[in-house]
Amino acid sequence: MLLKDQITALKEKCLNCQECPLGRRNLDGFDPHVFGSGNIKADMMVVAEAPGYNETVEKKVLVGRAGQFYNEKILKIANIERKSVFTTNAALCRPPNNRKPLPGELETCLPLLDSQVVLVDPKLIVILGNVPLYSVCDIPPSGITKYHGILRLSREWSDGKKRLVFPMFHPGYCLRGSGLKEVKEDALGLGFFVQQHLSKSLVELHDFAGKKLYLEEQGGL
Ligand code: SF4
Repeated sequence: MLLKDQITALKEKCLNCQECPLGRRNLDGFDPHVFGSGNIKADMMVVAEAPGYNETVEKKVLVGRAGQFYNEKILKIANIERKSVFTTNAALCRPPNNRKPLPGELETCLPLLDSQVVLVDPKLIVILGNVPLYSVCDIPPSGITKYHGILRLSREWSDGKKRLVFPMFHPGYCLRGSGLKEVKEDALGLGFFVQQHLSKSLVELHDFAGKKLYLEEQGGL
């Protein structure tokens, strides 16, 4: 089956999923499911936390103010076009009252994220915020202030590969006035890394795990 058809089939499955409570109720009259979008052959995938109200209205990940921040303060500074990456969420359905997805919900949604990762097959996964630390890196969903800006390896996906991961603050955190300097530095480092190194093989990229992008890249890796 063509990749496009595989993604379409996966999207259909995700949009009808009711495996956890998040998918079993409409919120504010809108279906809570939002599937990822962008380049299905991207070398870079972005995983945020979960849809909010605006996402369920527009049926697209990272829209509204958070989306504007993502577009202008992360991707634009990194000199990366949004349509060149695949953007999705760790939980594909909107939680009530804008709360974070619960551990059990993330666990239940993990096979669907795994399917997206395996089909798109990125070399680099940028995670935004604490929540995807668990889904992508298999570590507790907290501590983004410690992990941001430092490359690491992902959990092993069902295709047997570990991808490179770059943690960053979530736009929503920055919109509350925190982490603005750090996110700018991380975006600059990300852009440099993508330009200089993302064409390398996944095995070669594994050598970068543990490196702090912005500071070390300035010294010329
Ligand atoms: S959050 Fe994920 S697992 Fe839960 S219903 Fe939605 S798609 Fe299914």
